[in-house]
Amino acid sequence: MGEGDLLLYGRLAEEMGEIPPEDFWQGLKREGERYLAAGADRADLFHRILDEMLDGLIARDQRFGYPPPFCHKGCSNCCHELVYCTSEEADLIVRHCQAAGIAFDQERLIRQLQHVETDAQGDHTGVTTWNDQPKADQSCVFLDEADGSCRIWAVRPMVCRAHLAEGTDAHCLPHNGQVDPEALGISYVETSYLLSAIFTIHRDSVKKTLGRLVLERTRG
Ligand code: SF4
Ligand code: SF4
Repeated sequence: MGEGDLLLYGRLAEEMGEIPPEDFWQGLKREGERYLAAGADRADLFHRILDEMLDGLIARDQRFGYPPPFCHKGCSNCCHELVYCTSEEADLIVRHCQAAGIAFDQERLIRQLQHVETDAQGDHTGVTTWNDQPKADQSCVFLDEADGSCRIWAVRPMVCRAHLAEGTDAHCLPHNGQVDPEALGISYVETSYLLSAIFTIHRDSVKKTLGRLVLERTRG
């Protein structure tokens, strides 16, 4: 993620130089204004907007003969890496866990954060030694290890919703933040505009990562 003062996601991060500047700025502006106009408690609303957007794009691809994403319940290699979310998504997750009585391993979150390099502001620099942790510490604290499902599925962050792969999960494990060159990720420009606009608006919290945001809210 990242391009100057912007926090770009997906196709926009990868292809910014190839997109006509007018289209780029109009797309970011459109999604940013839509998000800002939604007011408080918008995290849940935008989760649904993103899900509907993805359903429509996947259905469109299938009409053109492309297979659906490989992603399915229990498929969880991608749940073994650093996760980003906004402050409002972290609020939603913590409220959901408290209401539903979902406990999670705070000590593991603290250990994981030792593998996430930060600057003086506590912002992640992009450098991580995530894979140097013991195997048992690499998985998301919200992953149900027994069946590979997400224990906070209804409120999982946008990055977890938009992260899709084609054909296999064999290349979805992270390598200290580096994407496997064999990976066949599915990244839509439409969702990239939405997430890039939201992440740029929340750039101060997104850079803290899900682990730090959730810990702050849990421990006060
Ligand atoms: S991104 Fe990869 S590991 Fe994650 S659900 Fe999809 S195929 Fe499975
Ligand atoms: S929040 Fe859920 S979907 Fe996201 S990484 Fe954790 S277990 Fe996986």
